[in-house]
Amino acid sequence: MGLYGGIEAGGTKFVCAVGSGPDDLRAEERFPTTTPEETIARAIDFFRAHRSPLLAVGIASFGPVDPNPASPTFGHITTTPKPGWAHTDIVGALRQALGVPVGFDTDVNGAALGEHCWGAARGLDTFIYLTVGTGIGGGGMVNGRLIHGLMHPEMGHVRIPHDLALDPFPGACPYHGDCLEGLAAGPAIEQRWGRRGENLPPDHPAWPLEARYLALGLVNYIVTLSPQRIIIGGGVMEQPQLFPLVRREVQALLNGYLQVPAILEDIDSYIVPPALGQRAGVLGAIALAREQVPAS
Ligand code: ZN
Repeated sequence: MGLYGGIEAGGTKFVCAVGSGPDDLRAEERFPTTTPEETIARAIDFFRAHRSPLLAVGIASFGPVDPNPASPTFGHITTTPKPGWAHTDIVGALRQALGVPVGFDTDVNGAALGEHCWGAARGLDTFIYLTVGTGIGGGGMVNGRLIHGLMHPEMGHVRIPHDLALDPFPGACPYHGDCLEGLAAGPAIEQRWGRRGENLPPDHPAWPLEARYLALGLVNYIVTLSPQRIIIGGGVMEQPQLFPLVRREVQALLNGYLQVPAILEDIDSYIVPPALGQRAGVLGAIALAREQVPAS
């Protein structure tokens, strides 16, 4: 059986792996994201050092990116504020160096595909994968296809109600201030409360507020896309008290409007963490590589 390469290209670290799926990850390396030249060269060195030839490589990248194969800037990281990385042709560099097909999508669409192949979205055709960490990103599938369209979803930047009397923090998004990401991503928690989320106790008022904001985002995705499940990963969600709070808030906000068992009775298996855990990203990249090879 042939092997695939995967790159989870994050804004703070790259994770590279070789394998064919969750039960077959043969090598893995992680290193910090520095300049594009240095970081991409390290990824190329990793794959070259692995002796067995690869059938394809997949890249699940921080963004914004251009995932449209018909576009002249396909495979580029486009307008990111991350210094040095705007307009980086990451796919071209890998394809030229390794001579294999390269699959490419957002980090969250990649993770969604990985969860669809091997994890919490198996058998579903319409679902969302959301990550809540240094930013908030969302991807997923509608009718069995990863969501693209104009470019790709930017679910973290939905606008939600912000009660300034309850929460005077103005928001941390450089573009919108108090969009969902500006109010609820990791940096917003740290700036609002003066401490990183992982250093706040589980009964701190930060968490009901966080759950409220996330639930406001989720109900917008639920009524718009009608997902069969919502998977939420990312560092902020590693707080175990958050999932139950978010589920309760979603039920309260929908207020009985959607008369479906998934929300009324079985919300514990409707809003869930990734089944692939912290490997969702790199396995998603391997799933993107597999899509490059017919009938793999
Ligand atoms: Zn924003």
